[in-house]
Amino acid sequence: MTKRRWGTAATSLACALMLVAAVPASASDNSAGAGDPYFPLAGNQGYDVEHYDLALDFTPSSHYLAAQATISARAEKELARFDLDYSGPAIDRVTVDGRPAAFARDGQELTVTPDRSLRRGKHFTVRVWYRGNPQPIDDPTLGIYGWINTDDGAVALNEPDGARSWYPVNDDLNDKATYTYRITTPNGVTALANGEPQGKPDVRGDKTTAVWNMRKPMASYLSMVAIGKFDVTSGRIGRLPNITAVDPGSEGDTASLAPDTAAAVRWEQDTFGKYPFDSVGGIVDRLGVDYALETQSRPVYDGVPDAATVVHEIAHQWYGDAVTPKTWADIWLNEGFATYAEWLWDEQHGGPTVRSVFDGWYAKPAGDRFWKLKTADPGRDEIFSYSAIYLRGGMTLQALRVTMGDRDFFTLLRTWVDTYKYRNADTGDLRALAEKISHKNLKPLFDAWLYSEEKPARP
Ligand SMILES: [Zn+2]
Repeated sequence: MTKRRWGTAATSLACALMLVAAVPASASDNSAGAGDPYFPLAGNQGYDVEHYDLALDFTPSSHYLAAQATISARAEKELARFDLDYSGPAIDRVTVDGRPAAFARDGQELTVTPDRSLRRGKHFTVRVWYRGNPQPIDDPTLGIYGWINTDDGAVALNEPDGARSWYPVNDDLNDKATYTYRITTPNGVTALANGEPQGKPDVRGDKTTAVWNMRKPMASYLSMVAIGKFDVTSGRIGRLPNITAVDPGSEGDTASLAPDTAAAVRWEQDTFGKYPFDSVGGIVDRLGVDYALETQSRPVYDGVPDAATVVHEIAHQWYGDAVTPKTWADIWLNEGFATYAEWLWDEQHGGPTVRSVFDGWYAKPAGDRFWKLKTADPGRDEIFSYSAIYLRGGMTLQALRVTMGDRDFFTLLRTWVDTYKYRNADTGDLRALAEKISHKNLKPLFDAWLYSEEKPARP
């Protein structure tokens, strides 16, 4: 994620002054959650989702959605019942393997009771029919996310736990799945999503259905649809499809998105290794949320982005999307790397050196609030802290680069993705890999930069 135009550092720090360090919520004793320390109700236990097939019939003029979600999963233990995360519109009915199933809703939990238990190892299919007007989540500290209606359609941006606002989901960072979207709209409306289109949109009467597939495993917070009026450009970067879409009412240089995306992908492939998905692109809409999000293979921008923002969101395709943290406490593994990518890009494109950027922030005195919060465990309400997560995350990587040396550091950036792509990894995994590559004990560096609220010694 990037906040659109950061404003000055002083602004960010002024905001930080108003925020109180969050006490991490205790792990839920309810089997409903998957155990994330910050989002204890998100995710569920007892099964592994393999594929989501989401059929969404959306009418922009009324923002009305009639949907059918088909979830293919495997039972990891005997299941008499199971939970999904869901806080969307009213449910008509639920089936499991084609037979009617009982269901109950309580807060964000949807509990499904099949007519007979699912034995361990069984592959099963849950189908949920629902309809109504989905609403965004408006969190007092995290802002607006989930299903966001626009004047000509809607866009879904889920980070961190907004997927439940528009489909039933196992919203666990560690349960990646593939996706098919079948988006039906009135004729003349464009629908996009993660991944690649399957053929041309199918027109029947006054409705059009577009099908999109994400064939690589994806964490649910990265799933996305965008519906509305868009100017779509389909190009290629080498053999990689580059599909971009811009709301024609956007201000600024609307032609810049496709070439800026291509430039970022080319440079990042040289720096980070092969691009991890089957297509790329970007979507510009008018959302009113003031952030961009690294939705898998196709980031969404609230307004035409500058080149640095594109570099940031495309870098997340390697760091965050291909390799995803195991818990939200490790979100610096996303934002620190994407921030570092911006600094590296600037250094190699006529801007300041990474070292000078580091030095500028390192000049903050030891007593400054800049050093408050632990970068690798900031608390639930601080996961998007600019100073603790973005800047100190990027600075941690610079400290690591200085300590490991350039050759080993750039080997680490590539090997990290080669080792963990399409899976999850945590800060301990990064340290272990960095130690294996450099043959150095990096515990003191990781402790000082990630698990302390004191200003670390200069590397
Ligand atoms: Zn980001």
